[in-house]
Amino acid sequence: MTPEQRAAEFDAADPLAHYRECFTLPADVIYLDGNSLGALPKATPDVMRRVVEREWGEGLIRSWNASEFGAGWFSAASRVGGKIAPLIGAAQNEVVACDSTSVNLFKLIAAALQMRPGRKVILSEPGNFPTDLYMIAGLERQGLAERRLAPRDRLVEALGDDVALLMLTHVHYKTGALHDMAALTRAAHAAGALVLWDLSHSTGAVPVDLNAVGADFAVGCGYKYLCGGPGAPAFAFVAERHHARLEQPLTGWFGHAAPFAFSDDYADAPGIERMLCGTSPVLGLAALEVGVDLIAGIGAERLYAKSQALSEFLLESLMAHDVALELVSPPVSNARGSQLSFRHPHAYAICQALIARGVIGDFRDPDVLRLGFAPAYLSFADIAAAARHIAEVLASGEWRNDEFNQRAAVT
Ligand SMILES: *Cc1c(COP(=O)(O)O)cnc(C)c1O
Repeated sequence: MTPEQRAAEFDAADPLAHYRECFTLPADVIYLDGNSLGALPKATPDVMRRVVEREWGEGLIRSWNASEFGAGWFSAASRVGGKIAPLIGAAQNEVVACDSTSVNLFKLIAAALQMRPGRKVILSEPGNFPTDLYMIAGLERQGLAERRLAPRDRLVEALGDDVALLMLTHVHYKTGALHDMAALTRAAHAAGALVLWDLSHSTGAVPVDLNAVGADFAVGCGYKYLCGGPGAPAFAFVAERHHARLEQPLTGWFGHAAPFAFSDDYADAPGIERMLCGTSPVLGLAALEVGVDLIAGIGAERLYAKSQALSEFLLESLMAHDVALELVSPPVSNARGSQLSFRHPHAYAICQALIARGVIGDFRDPDVLRLGFAPAYLSFADIAAAARHIAEVLASGEWRNDEFNQRAAVT
């Protein structure tokens, strides 16, 4: 059987196949970059139109409260956070949608340092997503933190009694490798440290159970698998047991216990709302809510099962075409997130040649071709076609064309 014939059988048996209809995707595109920017849900434009024309245009300032115009802008950050919660094993009151992942990292690293007086070290791994490491640098420059990096097989021994926080990304953005969240959380706690998990490449693709592993904090992205749109608000998780003690440094009025008391003095909101800073990005939250409703409605377990089947099928199809690319992701699907990464000295040009054929993946410096499998809207037929394009691009050497070798600003 050809990969295309196998794909037809898999698609016919795929319980998630009909969800593709919930997304707008160009007909001539095979989209293997939903791990970087999720596709547009078909419902989003109408929701945005309603929020803009009805809630903003007619409701004006009245729309901050629940009213005839809508559910209310003021509660949107907590409401959307509560809908993300089941995807990450959190309670509804432990998650809030706000700011960017970077800003949420800053708030939580600073809060963790304050909860572990006498300890200054933030432990992470080299090659973690850049913004995660850069946000430690900012606190280092303030004299508040000290960065320590240890390779993944040395993290546990690097957990000295000076470590305030272990901060890791659950699914590695470049390789897709998964950390053992339960074991690392346990080890950090045994060393007296707190743990922050970055779930940017997990949420909406890989099941996560923050409360089962006893995680302290987490952050994640709204525009990747959650399909919230470019620059969508991110989210922050704080375990309920820390709510009363947590002090984050960006003490803006939306994190205040009574923002509309207009008091001169700051007082933390009692729950997860103390993670907020300024006025919520209402339009961004409205778009994010559509994506979250859709993805959470499918459920993390079903999404991951399909993502594993898709990535296994790509490997199988590449083999059928005799493509020998060096796999840098774990070869076993339950040891990786929802992506496959391949190393090639000309990965950039290969990626560009694929994009010219409508197969959109991405390139990660210096030599990685990264293909993401957003399980909500990809079909097995997409994967079979992608494998054929990859085989043709490599066999023909068309990636050698000059046009595929000029670097753009965003890769
Ligand atoms: C995508 C991603 C981010 C993004 O942070 P922003 O503040 O939204 O730019 C952060 N961390 C990881 C691990 C990511 O993959």
